[in-house]
Amino acid sequence: MDPLNEGGIAVKKVGFIGLGVMGLPMCRNLMKAGYSVVAFDCRPEALDKIVGEGAQRGASAKDVASRTEVIITMLPDSPQVREVILGPSGVLEGARPGSIIVDMSSIAPGTSKEVAQEARKRGVRMLDAPVSGGQPGAVAGTLSIMVGGDEDDFNECYDLLKVMGSSVVRVGEIGAGNTVKLCNQIIVALNIAALGEAFVLGTKAGVDPNVIFAAIRGGLAGSAVMNAKVPLVVERKFDPGFRIDLHIKDLANALETAKALDVPLLFTALVAQVLQALRVQGKGGLDHGAIMTFFEDMAGVEIRSKQ
Ligand code: NAD
Repeated sequence: MDPLNEGGIAVKKVGFIGLGVMGLPMCRNLMKAGYSVVAFDCRPEALDKIVGEGAQRGASAKDVASRTEVIITMLPDSPQVREVILGPSGVLEGARPGSIIVDMSSIAPGTSKEVAQEARKRGVRMLDAPVSGGQPGAVAGTLSIMVGGDEDDFNECYDLLKVMGSSVVRVGEIGAGNTVKLCNQIIVALNIAALGEAFVLGTKAGVDPNVIFAAIRGGLAGSAVMNAKVPLVVERKFDPGFRIDLHIKDLANALETAKALDVPLLFTALVAQVLQALRVQGKGGLDHGAIMTFFEDMAGVEIRSKQ
């Protein structure tokens, strides 16, 4: 079934839709690993780039699905996933029964379930497989991938996912991948907010933030988030990384999911408002480390080193 490349070696063919900050390097890694990719993005410049690197050009999501049996999507949020999979000229119009959609976008778990249900009506399978690790992880192929869906479907896609991630874990049925991703995003956002409050207090009291960091990073308060974000804030580096706008989307999905489950998310709601205020201040495109600047502004101090 697999097509043959020029050397006569069987290559595996996948579809890839959504070639942004994350999708482009993930797609590149698949090509490097020997997969033949049919790609599509609504931005022609993104599509031209990957076609220039050897991918086949898809005319639409439908076209990609009609030419491949595994279709990966890496899109911003739930509305785009609905549009690309369920919409006109979407994946389900082109996909053959037995195909499998691997949606790697971070979206609402409820949307993953609804879209998977529609796909099932056409005999098409689906996994939700959101990632963490950011653009560096996407480039290095070291993402953490949280997968929801049928176990056999997961096993079938494991090798493919392992090309893009160093950790590939099935966490439950469809939607569970995005549920775990929301847990991840709540912890990260609240952690950065706590770092903002604490480092503003310490810095305004006259202690150098580098000293605070060195003193507490190895103790119970230390975290991967602290190690990643505090040095950047001290150096005033706010280029994304992970944009505040994307974190607003994730916390909105967390609050929507929590409402449906009758789970109060007090601090998530509060930090969501902080992020909203930062967006109004024109900071939506900055790295989420800039959450700390909200607390700086309130206290009239910057988390800067004295050296
Ligand atoms: P992005 O905005 O850079 O890329 C999204 C791509 O989808 C763009 O190229 C866009 O043109 C394309 N697209 C949008 N609508 C489309 C449509 N209807 N048809 C075809 N293509 C369409 O976003 P990103 O940073 O690559 O993030 C993708 C997902 O991964 C998001 O859900 C995000 O939350 C998640 N994520 C991002 C990071 C990060 O650090 N950037 C880390 C982990 C997870």
